[in-house]
Amino acid sequence: MKISRINHIGIAVNSLAAGTSIWTELLGLAMTGSETVAEQKVTTGFFPVGASEVELLEPTGPESPIAQFIAKKGEGIHHLAFEVEDLEGALNELKDKGVRLIDEHPRTGAGGARIAFIHPKQTGGVLIELCEHPHNH
Ligand code: ZN
Repeated sequence: MKISRINHIGIAVNSLAAGTSIWTELLGLAMTGSETVAEQKVTTGFFPVGASEVELLEPTGPESPIAQFIAKKGEGIHHLAFEVEDLEGALNELKDKGVRLIDEHPRTGAGGARIAFIHPKQTGGVLIELCEHPHNH
């Protein structure tokens, strides 16, 4: 597979509003967009940093995987997202290597991206998202 860049770093927060003030007031970043992804039960906020972004993830309810993550580990870094050129190909390559995946097939993430997660047990405890943006190659 070919990873072209870190697309974003996902950070779990209880409150997007409280999280936003940290990133804007302390660090001077600007939120350029916010989107609720119902399928993943999260509301995301994007803070561009060069070619990458910080992505805050607020749970939409207690059943959200982000709520469960915060309950277990507290707020903080949740996942690292790498941009790949060919997501299907990357997933097939990992499957061929016997790597356990959370998503065997791409699903839709924020911004219309196609995304898939690798199981963190395979990657030293780091939850890795692979993503492909149709107009970003
Ligand atoms: Zn992500």
